[in-house]
Amino acid sequence: MSTRPRARVGPAVRRLDSQRRAGQTAAVKQSIVTLDLEGVLTPEIWIAVSEKTGIEKLRLTTRDIPDYDVLMRGRLKILEEHGLRLSDIQAVIGTLRPLEGALEFLRALRAFTQVLILSDTFEQFAQPLMRQLEWPTLMCHRLVVQDDRIVNYQLRVPEQKQKTVAALKLLNYQVISAGDSFNDTAMLLEAHVGFLFRAPPSIQKQFPQFRAVETYSDLFRLIQEAH
Ligand SMILES: [Mg+2]
Repeated sequence: MSTRPRARVGPAVRRLDSQRRAGQTAAVKQSIVTLDLEGVLTPEIWIAVSEKTGIEKLRLTTRDIPDYDVLMRGRLKILEEHGLRLSDIQAVIGTLRPLEGALEFLRALRAFTQVLILSDTFEQFAQPLMRQLEWPTLMCHRLVVQDDRIVNYQLRVPEQKQKTVAALKLLNYQVISAGDSFNDTAMLLEAHVGFLFRAPPSIQKQFPQFRAVETYSDLFRLIQEAH
């Protein structure tokens, strides 16, 4: 009879469904932290280059020009005009130290949870700072360099900060993010919990939904609470 096989298959399918549901319920939601680099853990690289070279226009950052491509095209034009090479900028970066307390904060955070640094800097710039921060995982961009001249830059993907957080959410992570500037707000909006760290008052005012924090101890405590 055609009903008998169905009667046997039915409970088997129901058992399978129930096992699947149990598996889903058992899935643990883990937390992960994504941090901006410049302004949160290290000084602003371009501001340091501006101070070293005396080129005032290189002081502009994503805090001043929210459109990253406009900002970077402007920087590359200025470098070309002044004959500044990659090695000149790397020499400046070599003199930079992480912000006071940044290494201790990052050590404590990495002992507590997983941390990704999401930055709009470049591989060629980041290395001396990453060494001093004990090599956390960094996702950033790449410069196109010809004979020590920076001729262009490459984004692995546009909006990588926001997209990385979205990808982590697909992996069932609860994402806690902190940044200081306009180029972090898409990341903070995407994250489950977002903090502004030492952000200028104008950005704090424009994004009141993000708790604004000034010290590493407060940021660490709030991340622990959100974890
Ligand atoms: Mg920043």
